[in-house]
Amino acid sequence: MQPPATLVLGTTNEGKLRELVALLAPFGISCRSLRGLPGAVDVEETGATFAANAALKAGQQAAALHAWVLAEDSGLVVDALDGAPGIYSARFSGPVPAGATGSTDDRNNALLLEKLAGRPARDRTAHYACHAALADPTGRIVATAAGTCGGLIATARQGAGGFGYDPLFIVPEYHRTFGELPAAVKAVISHRARAMRAIIPAIVARL
Ligand code: IMP
Repeated sequence: MQPPATLVLGTTNEGKLRELVALLAPFGISCRSLRGLPGAVDVEETGATFAANAALKAGQQAAALHAWVLAEDSGLVVDALDGAPGIYSARFSGPVPAGATGSTDDRNNALLLEKLAGRPARDRTAHYACHAALADPTGRIVATAAGTCGGLIATARQGAGGFGYDPLFIVPEYHRTFGELPAAVKAVISHRARAMRAIIPAIVARL
């Protein structure tokens, strides 16, 4: 019997990687990141939607590596900002300024707080979205899935867990941000957890 093929996770985002590895581990799926992988390419996210970008990242990386690739595109959608930062979540605050000391996540969170300053709770509704795509070693997309998670944007950072916008993302059911909640809770209710639960059967069937 052939050993199972390795699934390449098409991201270099450490926060995403940590969560993806934990979500896939119970299913015995052998996976690795792009870090230090010879032949890995930088995929330009030129799509207009999360779904299009997930497919670009999975398909182009798989074709370049001749490997199975699972990629996801995700972000924060804020109703009062007409869906921003959306697909631009990672680069909401623009290019890193010369001499910058804080992280990009810090700058993104500061900009989000600024844009919602003075807005009441009812104007702070948002959701996270995650679209996942699985590509075969020729680059063909063989499965896709999506998940969302609704919440509210806090008026100040709370907690240091998670990554990205998590210290500002209040999960209403818990009255806590993802920055405060244990990783085990995020692993059940997050957009990424929901998308992974939907796509895992397609991975298990092929690898
Ligand atoms: P992508 O790598 O282009 O998909 O951008 C993902 C960006 O969306 C991240 O850099 C974060 O800013 C944001 N994001 C996506 N998922 C999460 C999450 O689970 N927590 C916090 N921020 C997230």
